Amino acid sequence: MQDKLVALVTGANQGIGLQIAKDLAAHGFTVLVGSRNFENGEAAAKSIEGDAHALQLDVTDQASIAAAAERIRTEFGRLDVLVNNAGISHAGKMTDQFPASAQSGLLTDASLDDVRAVFETNVFGIIAVTQAVLPLLREAPAARIVTVGSTAGSLTWNSDPTNEHRAMFGTYSSSKTAAHAVTLAFAFALESEGIKVNIACPGFTSTALNNFRGTRTVEQGAREAVRLALIGADGPTGTFSDEDGPVAW
Ligand code: NAP
Repeated sequence: MQDKLVALVTGANQGIGLQIAKDLAAHGFTVLVGSRNFENGEAAAKSIEGDAHALQLDVTDQASIAAAAERIRTEFGRLDVLVNNAGISHAGKMTDQFPASAQSGLLTDASLDDVRAVFETNVFGIIAVTQAVLPLLREAPAARIVTVGSTAGSLTWNSDPTNEHRAMFGTYSSSKTAAHAVTLAFAFALESEGIKVNIACPGFTSTALNNFRGTRTVEQGAREAVRLALIGADGPTGTFSDEDGPVAW
């Protein structure tokens, strides 16, 4: 087993995930750059200063997940941090981009297959990857799990009639609500073992997910997830926050 702490970031070949990987590498972690396309992961790993390795990982593919977990064990022998970052805003045609995708993602319009595809990545992907690497995390002295969530999935915010964004509450937003719920379930189940599990909202960040309409940089978007990945024994578990503090569920 290597001495250096090891972190896995899913969907780290671009966007916020790549920046989280860069920041964790800068904090001295060996970073595993999860990428469903290995070549994209390799290119991303090369762009990271520090110890970074591409790891083929499609969060919707159980064989890929199992192979990734096995490779972490045999090659690195440990896992200290898991960042569940991989996500999609919509399934189907990539021409249907944000904000048009938000309209087609309304549950009044969306095809059930597309809803399932989004939940497969954004919700079941979190459960599948977390379960697969949990044996490694349990062996770590102070494991941390962070899910990249979204205020778009806040039921409290969206229940407020004055919130103009609630008109877009559909497939993606409800998948993030579910992502928060399953992450919280892991937090409660792992509380007695000292594994801290939290959810970070990056804010509206300029990435491919929103056709680069976001107003925050990836450096800003990565910050809260990185902070939660680095919390000490006195840090919280089962929380949902952005850079400004706690976010309503
Ligand atoms: P992004 O640039 O599109 O990055 C998404 C990443 O997820 C990509 O690396 C993508 O891989 C990967 N991914 C998608 N499906 C995958 C799968 N089945 N297996 C493995 N990886 C997969 O978008 P982003 O904004 O950085 O998104 C990162 C996270 O932030 C998401 O969970 C998103 O919901 C969340 N978020 C973003 C914002 C925002 O404003 N951008 C706000 C709130 C929350 P490919 O390159 O292969 O597609």
